[in-house]
Amino acid sequence: MSEDFYCEQVLSGKTEVEKVYETENVLAYYHTKPFYPVHIVTIPKKHIDSLLTIQEDNLLLEIFTVIKYVA
Ligand SMILES: [Zn+2]
Repeated sequence: MSEDFYCEQVLSGKTEVEKVYETENVLAYYHTKPFYPVHIVTIPKKHIDSLLTIQEDNLLLEIFTVIKYVA
């Protein structure tokens, strides 16, 4: 089974990340192996299989609000 880095390492706190911004349900942090000078990752604070399968519109909105904020 492939490792779910976000849940197993980041959200669990096993891998420490530098937080940029967070809300109740969303976390934005600096990529641990950035490809660009500024590379921020934005993830929901619970496991989501895919952005396309999110049922909660509020969560989707919260994710994009955070992305807009940190971009
Ligand atoms: Zn996950």
